[in-house]
This record gives sequence, C-alpha cells and structure tokens, in this order.
Amino acid sequence: MSSIIQLLPDHVANQIAAGEVVQRPASVVKELLENAVDAKATDIKLIIKDAGKSLVQVIDNGLGMSVTDARLCFERHATSKIRQAEDLFSLHTKGFRGEALASIAAIAHVEMKTRPDQEELGTHIVIEGSKFMSQDVAVLPKGTSFAVKNLFFNIPARRNFLKSDIVEQRHIIDEFLRVVMAHPNIHFTLYHNGSEVFNLPQSNIRQRIVNIFGGKTNEKLVPVKETTDIVSIQGFVSKPEFSKKSRGEQFFFVNDRFIKSGYLHHAVMAAYEGLLKDGCQPAYYLYLDVPPHTIDINIHPTKTEIKFDDEHALYAILRSAIKHSLGQFNVAPVLDFER
Ligand code: ADP
Ligand code: MG
Repeated sequence: MSSIIQLLPDHVANQIAAGEVVQRPASVVKELLENAVDAKATDIKLIIKDAGKSLVQVIDNGLGMSVTDARLCFERHATSKIRQAEDLFSLHTKGFRGEALASIAAIAHVEMKTRPDQEELGTHIVIEGSKFMSQDVAVLPKGTSFAVKNLFFNIPARRNFLKSDIVEQRHIIDEFLRVVMAHPNIHFTLYHNGSEVFNLPQSNIRQRIVNIFGGKTNEKLVPVKETTDIVSIQGFVSKPEFSKKSRGEQFFFVNDRFIKSGYLHHAVMAAYEGLLKDGCQPAYYLYLDVPPHTIDINIHPTKTEIKFDDEHALYAILRSAIKHSLGQFNVAPVLDFER
C-alpha cells in the first residue's frame, strides 16, 4: 500500500493554528499589546476602526526588530522569548509560543514597520495570507507598528461569524483593560474610529483604576497587601457597601498577566463572608506575584488560565489578607466616631 500521510504546507498549518489563537479582533488586540509590552515599550497606542473589523493597529516605542528578525517574526514557533523547554519555568514575558504573528499574518493583511534604537533605518513589511508582498528599508521612529487589516479575509465563515460592532468593541475594550490594568507604568491610548477613548498616563495601580473606572472609585478602594514565601499580594478590593448585583470589575493578575480563576474568586468571596448583601459581588483588582517556576501558564492557548503548584495555600493566604484588610476598614469608622 502506498503512503498517504503528508506534511501540511506552512500557510495551511498557520491558518489552522490561527483558528485557536485568533477568535475575533479582540484576540489580535491582546497579542499585539502583549508583544508591545514584552518589547519594553513605555508608550503604546491602540488604533481601531470598525470594532477592529477594518483595522487593529498597535504602535509602540519598544525595542523594535532588526531586519532579519522583522522577517523571522512571522514564522511559526519563531520567538525571542524562550530558547528551551526549561525557560517555560522562568518566564518573564507575556508571549513564548511564537505563534501569534504567524497566525495573524495567515488570516489578515498585515503591515509592519519596525526600527531598533541602534539602527538608523527600519524595515517595512507587508504580508497577506502568509505571503510576503513587499519589504523595504524605511525612515521610521524607534519601535514597532503593526497594522492588521481585513481580518479573516480568506476565511469567510469566520468573518460572517463576527458579532455586531458594539459586541466586538466591548471585547476589544475588555482585552485592552486587562493589559492596561496589568501595566500601570505604561502610557496607553486607545482610539476608535478617530476619537480618543482612553488616554492613560503612566501611574500607580490606584491612579490607573481611578483613571479607567472614574473618580468615584477612589473612595471604595480598600488596599490589600501581604508578602509570604509563596506569593506576594497587592491591590485593592471594594468596601462591602459598594458591592453590586453584577460581576463587574474583578481582576486577578499573576506576574503581570490577567488570569481567570474560579478558585481564587471563591477565596475572595470567602473573605467577604457575612459582609455582602444576597447575590452581591465586590470589585477587586488583585496583583499576585509568585515565583515563575511555581505556575504553569502553558495549559491554554490564550493563557488566561494557569495552574498553581500550591493552590490551597494561595487560597488561604489570599482569603486571610483580604479579610484582614476589610477588618481594618471596618474598625476605622468607629475610631473616627470616638474622637
Ligand atoms: P511570541 O510573543 O510568543 O514570542 P509572536 O508571534 O507574538 O510570538 O512574536 C514573535 C517574535 O516577534 C517575538 O518573540 C519578538 O521577538 C518579535 N516581536 C513581536 N512583536 C514585537 C514588537 N512589538 N516589538 C519588538 N519585537 C516584537
Ligand atoms: Mg506574542
């Protein structure tokens, strides 16, 4: 019998991988913003047109890429962030799979401009559906700009599956907020259809929360701080009387990465035991730092779920830290009263 197995051509493999990495314009937003953060940018602009259906562009002032890297970054499994499997246990970057740009370039029209600080001239590349259309030397500012147009141009089924602009824009803003909340020390701006939606200067965590969610938020914040061998926690939770019926502003960041965790959410809720009205939810903005070798980020392509070595200890520490903070806050009004 003759053999029938064949290796898929790269552009087909990329298109398949893209299905996992890129669900909607917001996925592109996430990947490009994270790359800009990994490139140590201090100023990042996100430009959106038609809820990302026509354009998602990210401009950063980060490290930029050499002409060779500018070409290589679109290859699958091409990454500057890890070299060997062991590096996965000491990660300090958002990316490491080397799949995002190859995937995005497989299903959209991408225009990239990049220049590292030490080079006088930069590189301008256009790639469409994994096909290099042009490559030029260009006079460019330091840093990198990725413009992603016509997402899913070659996968009509995916394109038709996109939701209304309002829904897609909501997804984009959610992803944007997750990244900007994780990095208050970076200046971020977001423009949609030509108007400025967010302009967030470099700040601390409290200022960033207030800049995003409004001045009234400030008075509802209770600081949380705890340092142990396995985790250091900082951030804020809301005073119980500000809790709401809906789950709104609830953020966990682990080593500067937004994550979802039903288990840690439960720990927070346990700390509020007896303090919340029925069915009400607190707001929280919690930043956990753990040694990178004690977590596994590689369990989900979008990396929003991670696995902790010692979940139970983390739960207990988080719960007691929040309980302690809420307790201190409860005492404070009484002291005021006595004075
Ligand atoms: P990953 O982030 O997992 O490494 P990507 O496909 O997102 O994979 O990016 C591939 C590589 O391209 C990165 O490892 C990095 O070296 C380079 N790169 C991507 N975006 C930028 C950027 N904004 N500035 C500088 N280098 C970048
Ligand atoms: Mg990346």
